[in-house]
Amino acid sequence: MSEILVVVDHADGAVRTTTAELLTCARRLGEPSAVFFGAAADLTPGQLAEYGARKAYVLEDAAYRDCLVAPKAEALAQLVADRRPAAVLIPSTPEGKEVAARLAIKTDSGLVTDASDVVRGDDGAVHTTQSVFGGAFTTTASITKGTPIVTLKPNSLTTEGADPAVPIEAETVRVAVSDTARAARIIRREPRGDIGRPDLADASIVVSGGRGTGGDFDAVEAFADCLGAAVGASRAAVDAGWYPHAFQVGQTGVTVSPQLYVASGISGAIQHIAGMRSSKIVVAVNKDAEAPIFGLADFGVIGDLRPVLVQATTEIDNR
Ligand code: FAD
Repeated sequence: MSEILVVVDHADGAVRTTTAELLTCARRLGEPSAVFFGAAADLTPGQLAEYGARKAYVLEDAAYRDCLVAPKAEALAQLVADRRPAAVLIPSTPEGKEVAARLAIKTDSGLVTDASDVVRGDDGAVHTTQSVFGGAFTTTASITKGTPIVTLKPNSLTTEGADPAVPIEAETVRVAVSDTARAARIIRREPRGDIGRPDLADASIVVSGGRGTGGDFDAVEAFADCLGAAVGASRAAVDAGWYPHAFQVGQTGVTVSPQLYVASGISGAIQHIAGMRSSKIVVAVNKDAEAPIFGLADFGVIGDLRPVLVQATTEIDNR
């Protein structure tokens, strides 16, 4: 069966959900092999085997941690030349997209970024689905040149576990890192700090606030905390400097796909909906009964978000 390379998204070895999605997707195309940039000691092969990886290539050079993306792109190009995979799947993170673009140039291959689905067509080619113009249109594309390279948007697919009894083989791969690739180095990292909430992209509950908060996110945060939820924000709230951009949900922010999404003081612009439309249940709190978000919501509360969220928080805290 043809090999599909999957770049593992992890934090010190803890594999993110995006990797499980990529492996699920890769299994439809062929036999997934994980590409792990990091210390071999951090690799927990079971986390990858659970989603069907049969092989893990471990690339350990310090350059992958200390430099910007060039060493990773160089190493992947070497792996592609050596293993001749049928496709390479990469998470649609800012770093992932840059690695993918560099890899496409190095291998003279076709690239699709921000795909929401990847399948093999009857013609044997890799076909991708993308949502464009804020979700107003869906496009399909097939990659016909070189080794198809696809970045997959987080939360686009439902993960499916594989037979955990099938063993995974780990292989350390050494690729010489060129001086050019080492040129751009990371001087300082500023940890975001533990905010005590789940990661927005992976959260099963998200409570978001928009312009309707008037800049006061206290009620939104308190409600999120009583549910164990992540906090999100609309672009209007981010642009006003009320909440950091890392928490922006939407076309130019994070794509979320939680079990429950609470939109408070958010009108429901198409660009916001593009980032949360696949949420399982949507609850909207808005004082305008005509707000477009009610068109998407499963449940709606017409009213001022502060008393509504405070009352809901008290109610849940008392249970
Ligand atoms: P508004 O549209 O101003 O809505 C505020 C809502 O709050 C209103 O419905 C109002 O009735 C309600 N409200 C006011 N006070 C209260 C109250 N006290 N209680 C309850 N409800 C109240 N937007 C994103 O969110 N994410 C993106 O990634 C994104 N990307 C974009 C990319 C492009 C290229 C462009 C052009 C735009 C993008 N936008 C994005 C912006 C988007 O078009 C909207 O402007 C934005 O989503 C509006 O945010 P909002 O709903 O918070 O504000």
